Amino acid sequence: MILQIALNTPLRRVFDYLPPAGLGDTTAPARLEPGVRVRVPFGRRHLVGILIGTSASSAVALAKLKPALEILDERPVFDPVTFDLLCWAAEYYHHPIGEVMAAALPPSLRAGQPADMTLESWSLTGAGRQELKNPGSRRAPQQRALLAWLAQQGPKTVEEIAGRRGGGPFKSVHLKSLLERGWAVATSVPAQPALFELRPSDVTLTDAQTQVVAAITASLGRFAAHLLYGVTGSGKTEVYLQVIAAALAGGGQVLVLVPEIALTPQLVERFRQRFSAGVVVMHSALAGTLRRDAWRAAHGGQARIIIGTRSAVFTSLPSLNLIVVDEEHDASYKQHEGFHYSARDLAVWRAQRAQVPVVLGSATPSLETLENVVQGRYSRLLLPQRVGMARAPRMTLIDLRKHATDQGLSQPAMQAIGQHLEAGGQVIVFLNRRGYAPSLFCNACGWIALCAHCDARMTLHRRAAQLRCHHCGAHAKVPVICGNCGQALYPVGQGTERVEETLARLFPNASLARLDRDTAAAHGAMQAVLERVHRGEARILVGTQMLTKGHHFPDVSLVVILDADQGLFASDFRATERLAQTITQVAGRAGRAARPGEVMIQTSFPEHPLLTRLISGGYEGFAAIALEERRAAHWPPYSRLALLRAEARENAGLDGFLRAAAARGRAVADGAVAVLGPAAALIARRADHFRAHLLIETAARAPLQRFLKQWLPLVESLPRPVGLRWSIDVDPLEVD
Ligand code: ADP
Ligand code: ZN
Ligand code: ZN
Repeated sequence: MILQIALNTPLRRVFDYLPPAGLGDTTAPARLEPGVRVRVPFGRRHLVGILIGTSASSAVALAKLKPALEILDERPVFDPVTFDLLCWAAEYYHHPIGEVMAAALPPSLRAGQPADMTLESWSLTGAGRQELKNPGSRRAPQQRALLAWLAQQGPKTVEEIAGRRGGGPFKSVHLKSLLERGWAVATSVPAQPALFELRPSDVTLTDAQTQVVAAITASLGRFAAHLLYGVTGSGKTEVYLQVIAAALAGGGQVLVLVPEIALTPQLVERFRQRFSAGVVVMHSALAGTLRRDAWRAAHGGQARIIIGTRSAVFTSLPSLNLIVVDEEHDASYKQHEGFHYSARDLAVWRAQRAQVPVVLGSATPSLETLENVVQGRYSRLLLPQRVGMARAPRMTLIDLRKHATDQGLSQPAMQAIGQHLEAGGQVIVFLNRRGYAPSLFCNACGWIALCAHCDARMTLHRRAAQLRCHHCGAHAKVPVICGNCGQALYPVGQGTERVEETLARLFPNASLARLDRDTAAAHGAMQAVLERVHRGEARILVGTQMLTKGHHFPDVSLVVILDADQGLFASDFRATERLAQTITQVAGRAGRAARPGEVMIQTSFPEHPLLTRLISGGYEGFAAIALEERRAAHWPPYSRLALLRAEARENAGLDGFLRAAAARGRAVADGAVAVLGPAAALIARRADHFRAHLLIETAARAPLQRFLKQWLPLVESLPRPVGLRWSIDVDPLEVD
């Protein structure tokens, strides 16, 4: 028998090994289920891989095959659906299976640590029982009490002994003294599922919520995909909580995917409040042991609700009942480097395979998802109104050609800010550009501060007294005079830092807060900013798209969007969709409670159809027309794309490689497949690397997959200039 093993290497293949020596043939079959971890020799190292399957023969000569060293697990480290999901994802995204499997495991499990969660359970030794019988003992009463308690209760964990989860009133020092005298001993026992309980809520669902909850609950136990389409503040999260309670009533587990844990502390908090136990959080920034324990609790069934970011879609969940994908349109569900998967799409695949429902929630669904609704693949559940008194905000456009501005703030916007502050409201000013100014410019000779490593301008960060490149991270001192002609230099344009400065000057009595990647860089800094806003200390909040994610600010009554024009004329086919989502999401921060909201959008193109449709027809009106445009132009969801990106230090070598790859592609492409390019990336040089790509376009999934299967091995075998790297991105979010 040959073992086929996925190893964490960039090679698109499995590796053949013989079973480990000493693995008796009688015990072998039970222990050799696909999905167990196996330690193998690889070159001069030992690696931990995943058993994918077994076969009777190998393409490698039998004499050359090495035996594996050790089978690490009694049972697979993935439930069967997750294992299939990983195999399918490797194939669909054309990514090496070893790296795919590795992405699904926390680092300590990749290194071979045990997969099962066990607890230390303490019981009395013979000497301990003897001591208990000794009437003359002068032991401290607490120690005697603990001896007696353990004798009566049987094995108990530290937590039980210390009464943290019901049980004894003891302290761990008492246990320690028993241990020191040899009276107690620990054994490992499997952990039990968490006691799970829904705390009663004082929320009475609205009629719309009741209908939605009923529709989703009715689909428990089989596959169904639901788009939960509801404006911000319409009560989607409350729906999740109720549906999850129903899904867990008879046992089982629920997976909740969220875009970014750091940006959704309020959501996690609401889950923890409502469900007494069994909620675990999973994301890649979690410290090693916490992540391992969360994973073990999920795999072992102790965790009942798993809230995680995109990689959590690969979590082993043996009794999965329901999947929720919150903010399904969010770009962070797509991994941007390495293994380019979409967690949202994989969640739907997983739900189908597991025969459970999946709920995709958004106020601004992606056009793909809306098309799936049109096609009848997803059901659409609407929450058309905000809960309670909250009304939809009033949106207006401000024509920047007609109004004077002060550092990017138009007269009407300044006036409105003043009025809302006066009335006791809070104000959000949104600009999706951090730093002080996007360029530093010489009026005399036209010199601009550029990045030495990229085809891009340096952004001025005044507080940090630095020029920074937002593409490669390079930074430099701020020059005092033009290096070219010696004249003074001027910051041109606005970033959030400059807007904050301008607002401080215009509204000296209103205290300000700023939220962007610069102010949120330090640990806990974002939380501190948000709390200042919540407590009402900060009256004006300036920020980037970090503001768009799920925050609930009851007193914000005005949102000003400083620059809507960035996305209007961008080359990417998804740019307008993104802009409409951002505007709608930022606008949704206004007037979430009793205060009526107002949204002002500054633009130099107030007649632009995207903006006028958004104002008149809302996101839905925008989406209907945007889908028609996509159909006419053969963009997704009406076509399928894959992007082969490559980068290299030398442009000539890069171009030669991509031309050769394109030629191979055109040779194997049938009429259904178009190979476009090579084309340079928007930022053609980044971090001293030239970047370019080939775009593959087909009408449907199947021919694209067939083509990639034939083509990628040819690309892999092409001669490659030293240092050239390439990757394939199936269903790319950006064609750049
Ligand atoms: P979304 O997730 O769609 O933004 P939420 O579920 O966060 O909406 O609801 C917005 C606000 O309304 C929250 O403060 C929530 O507690 C409250 N809420 C939701 N549903 C109800 C309800 N049926 N009755 C009263 N308040 C509700
Ligand atoms: Zn100059
Ligand atoms: Zn740079």
